[in-house]
Amino acid sequence: MTDVLAITDHRRGDLRDVSYEIITAGRQLADETGGDLHLAVISGTVDEFADKLDREGVDVIHTVDVGEEFNHNVYTQVVTQLYDELAPQYVLTPNSVNGLDYAPAVANRLGLPIVTDTVDLDTDGETLIATREMYGGKVETTSELADNAVVTIRSAEWPVAEGTGDAAIEAFDADIDESQQGSTVTGFEEVGGGDVDISEADVLVSVGRGIEEEDNIPIIEDLADALDATVSSSRPIVDNGWLPKNRQVGQSGKVVTPDVYIAIGISGAVQHVAGMKGSDTIVAINTDPNAPIMDIADYAIHDDLFDVVPALTEEFQ
Ligand code: FAD
Repeated sequence: MTDVLAITDHRRGDLRDVSYEIITAGRQLADETGGDLHLAVISGTVDEFADKLDREGVDVIHTVDVGEEFNHNVYTQVVTQLYDELAPQYVLTPNSVNGLDYAPAVANRLGLPIVTDTVDLDTDGETLIATREMYGGKVETTSELADNAVVTIRSAEWPVAEGTGDAAIEAFDADIDESQQGSTVTGFEEVGGGDVDISEADVLVSVGRGIEEEDNIPIIEDLADALDATVSSSRPIVDNGWLPKNRQVGQSGKVVTPDVYIAIGISGAVQHVAGMKGSDTIVAINTDPNAPIMDIADYAIHDDLFDVVPALTEEFQ
């Protein structure tokens, strides 16, 4: 019987979706080995988060009240101490900016192997098979781990855990060595584009190079307004400086899984598709019927975006 310790993620007072996805990933592993799923909430608002995270499949939620802001040294110490206390076989963390910050340090301190950015996990109780994607999803690699390990999971690869659980909620009293506090967050400065997280949007109106020039972007924003949606884009739009970096979908941007993804003037290059293929419904508007995006679209509109987009906006308004 092997246990799994999964670490949740939050940002500016909100739990991130990956916190619910990691429950699903952790539960699968624990089920295959007949073990328990331990979830850790490391935050300043532990009670509220623990209530939200008490979903089906979680055995114990460990709350660690160490302050709101992420701190590398605090997380590293807390996760290491939880591991020493609980002796799980696997430690799962999100493959987020924060997760990628502390997970390698935890693995290093514990002398464990680490596999990052996994998209699938399987175990027979003895060997963990961790799958990763390379070259924008064209190639899959698997790592076989014969012993305990730290694993980071990519967001939007596992469904969010649903259902109300009956987990035991236990406060964990971490022993934080303040002298290891290498850095402290003193404030936030938003990058251009405001506090928009496209990975949390339900509907994305995404614009690509077919828009031709920056002055045409407002027709996309108008459609997004009419749909109460969020604007995202392919990489050339960001590279041109027409939208900020936090709007970019894809391999070197964000992975998104909205209910509806409307790709406008986007060809569907493999690096773009890697970031949006998990969308529930994909709508593509493109003048080229052979554009790769048309193959993965649920609704493919083979027409000029400068005709279709204003017509759609008017209709939805
Ligand atoms: P294009 O490929 O130029 O496509 C424009 C599309 O618009 C065409 O299909 C065309 O038919 C259509 N079109 C033109 N005019 C109209 C019109 N009037 N009406 C309707 N349709 C029209 N890209 C990303 O998006 N995200 C990433 O994260 C990313 N990471 C990358 C990482 C690496 C290492 C590399 C090498 C590349 C990466 N790229 C990424 C770039 C990627 O390879 C493509 O170049 C990019 O996705 C193309 O963007 P696009 O579809 O907007 O442009």
